[in-house]
Amino acid sequence: MPRQELGDIAAGRLPPAQLAENFADIGPPLDRQAAVIAAQRCYYCYDAPCIKACPTGIDIPSFIRRITTGNLRGAATDILGANIFGGMCSRVCPTEILCEGSCVRNRPEDAPVQIGALQRHATDWVFEDGVRLFERGTDTGQRVAVVGAGPAGLACAHALARAGHQVVVFDAREKSGGLNEYGIAQYKVLDFAAREIAWLLSIGGIEVRHGQALGRNLVLADLRRDFGAVFLAIGLAGVNALGIEGETLAGVRNAVDFIAELRQGANLAQLPVGRRVVVVGGGNTAIDAAVQSKKLGAESVTLAYRRGAASMSATFAEREFAQTNGVNLIEWVQPRRMLGANGTVAAVEFEYTRMDTANRLVGTGETVTIAADLVLKAVGQTLAAPAEAPQIAKGRIVVNVDFQTSLPGVWAGGDCVGTAVDLTVQAVEDGKRAARSIDEALRQRTPEVATNPAVRAIAQPIKA
Ligand SMILES: Cc1cc2nc3c(=O)[nH]c(=O)nc-3n(C[C@H](O)[C@H](O)[C@H](O)COP(=O)(O)OP(=O)(O)OC[C@H]3O[C@@H](n4cnc5c(N)ncnc54)[C@H](O)[C@@H]3O)c2cc1C
Ligand code: SF4
Repeated sequence: MPRQELGDIAAGRLPPAQLAENFADIGPPLDRQAAVIAAQRCYYCYDAPCIKACPTGIDIPSFIRRITTGNLRGAATDILGANIFGGMCSRVCPTEILCEGSCVRNRPEDAPVQIGALQRHATDWVFEDGVRLFERGTDTGQRVAVVGAGPAGLACAHALARAGHQVVVFDAREKSGGLNEYGIAQYKVLDFAAREIAWLLSIGGIEVRHGQALGRNLVLADLRRDFGAVFLAIGLAGVNALGIEGETLAGVRNAVDFIAELRQGANLAQLPVGRRVVVVGGGNTAIDAAVQSKKLGAESVTLAYRRGAASMSATFAEREFAQTNGVNLIEWVQPRRMLGANGTVAAVEFEYTRMDTANRLVGTGETVTIAADLVLKAVGQTLAAPAEAPQIAKGRIVVNVDFQTSLPGVWAGGDCVGTAVDLTVQAVEDGKRAARSIDEALRQRTPEVATNPAVRAIAQPIKA
């Protein structure tokens, strides 16, 4: 049945001009003058806390100082040398809990330096002009397989190419980028993901093969046999179910699928959305699904979370953003069942929750019913690991400090490992560190490569 006939789900709820305005860039770039003024606010702190707060350790005061002197090439090299996805991260990082959150100027009577916006200013021109900042290292003759073309996989691939290894990246989807391409909110990235990846791959030495899914048409044992090392960066491709009555009714969807459809849709006016939308969850995905539903023209959007707002994994800034965009947040409720008519969802029955004396979340028995044409489930993504995967614990691939798995010659990183936080910047850092470990292992195996000064020189910039 076409989706338009289910409940009140329809495309084109807003005129195209309004949709274009709603999905415009939420962080428009700083012009040269604004960037210099923003950069001059930096104190260039010794032992700068902002550097420590960045998972990729970008030398923030250094790149900011270069902006003030007009040295954008130096600034971009500082950033992209530490974080090859520095362009994407300038758009999507929750800076309020990372670099800007730790900036010494982040005080009630002051404001943090606009590190994210300055990072974007320093890097945007690199992608626009296709500037070459990094060269591929002298060919070592070593081949590495990377599974997953998201930020972890491609960061690893780029670092390995810089070290002179040949890399083949395999990805199940039709496009590279992982959640940069299929997940992150449209108004944060627009068409940037593809441009950034084209630039990243221009270093050479990296071949990407799409439609290759480990566990389906790609076998880990074959990769281990055919390549000197394997890096698994498969993210979290599964989704949690609610496990409640009515979950299979038409109009109940996974939020990640709704978002992927939106990111891939060429025409926002053709994207169907419910008149009344209920989103269940409390993380990035829930916030993005709720805000984007509202921006597509849903009349009412309710974000329902089972605990208090302070426990949500979405940051305060993201919650505030959702609320200022008209999303209604209801706390301390858990879905009990989906109510439907003619096989289509019509409402969600929630039970109120509270913490009991043993600090456990329990239902109070009281309920509230919220009408819904579209219900988006955003209760967590899960590892979809093939049977031959390395050791897994707590739903993630187990790795040591060097990102080595339980299988010799196999490394893993990014969301599928869950190092610290499930963020783009952390995935990039994982990929970078894994590349350094892989590079070391390959050089130990081939002494002629290890002693080649050209290769070693290239390998060094892969920072810890
Ligand atoms: C909706 C949403 C919004 C988000 N918003 C933000 C944000 O604003 N800021 C932020 O910092 N982070 C955000 N995140 C988190 C961030 O996107 C992830 O932490 C990051 O993308 C993880 O990178 P990764 O490379 O580990 O995995 P992914 O980006 O998931 O990439 C994994 C890749 O592996 C491929 N793959 C999966 N299984 C297989 C297989 N079996 N065989 C072959 N290939 C496979 C996939 O197709 C994909 O290309 C968001 C996440 C979601 C879901
Ligand atoms: S903490 Fe703030 S003021 Fe200090 S170096 Fe970092 S950005 Fe500049």
